[in-house]
Amino acid sequence: MKVNYAGTVSLSTLDWRGKAAVTIFFRDCPLRCPYCQNHSYLEEPGLVELDFVKEQIKNSGPFVSAAVFSGGEPLMQAAIVPLAEFAKELGLFVGIHTNGCYPERAAELVERKLVDKFFIDVKAPPNDPGLYAKVAGCGGYGDGTVRKTPEEIAAAVAKTIETADSASLELELRTTLIRDLIGSKEEIEHIAAWISENVKNREKTVYVLQQGLPEHSLQESLRKVRSLDREEMLELGKTAKGFLEKVKVRTKEDGEEAV
Ligand code: SF4
Repeated sequence: MKVNYAGTVSLSTLDWRGKAAVTIFFRDCPLRCPYCQNHSYLEEPGLVELDFVKEQIKNSGPFVSAAVFSGGEPLMQAAIVPLAEFAKELGLFVGIHTNGCYPERAAELVERKLVDKFFIDVKAPPNDPGLYAKVAGCGGYGDGTVRKTPEEIAAAVAKTIETADSASLELELRTTLIRDLIGSKEEIEHIAAWISENVKNREKTVYVLQQGLPEHSLQESLRKVRSLDREEMLELGKTAKGFLEKVKVRTKEDGEEAV
């Protein structure tokens, strides 16, 4: 089996806060978010053998307690299943960063107990496919290769969240905020209200507002947009806090802060 592979960070403390992890980055993604920072992963494929990626995980073994699969979109590839299985055999916790577009694969990992934590993008309110389409790069953004309809994307995200929530897994839901694209007070209220109505296991769920850094965006015209500053982020965090217990903001200046 081949893996469309982008790279490995052998020791990361940022991809799963609180754990030392080896992070494996996959190439390709069905979306084309205009603010995507990893757009080099969306271009040419970089196929390697499954065993090569297993070696990367194994070689990090003594120094880490977790394997994180990120991208790109890791759930897009069937290889995620044997790789998660391999990480579990090594005694590692498994975390998956996902845009939520592959609920069936998420369910397979949950059923086979191959995942301990999901980090799921909630790019926009899942009950607003029109806004989701804008933020995910459907129609007119990126290079026009989005392979799902806005309705399919929004429904898949909701289903992936439901799958993780029903299994009582640890769950990080996150929204990346970009000035004038996504992150107005009303939009954050709308997303936080949706989470509050749809996620049952609040104890294990954290909602994180991430400061988008537009300077390396996929969409060139975004590269000059000014990032939201920490105060603006905290203000939006307080808005989300009106709906949810566990809210954090993540900024370049101050790292992660609970609101
Ligand atoms: S930011 Fe969007 S386009 Fe880029 S990897 Fe993530 S989901 Fe895909």
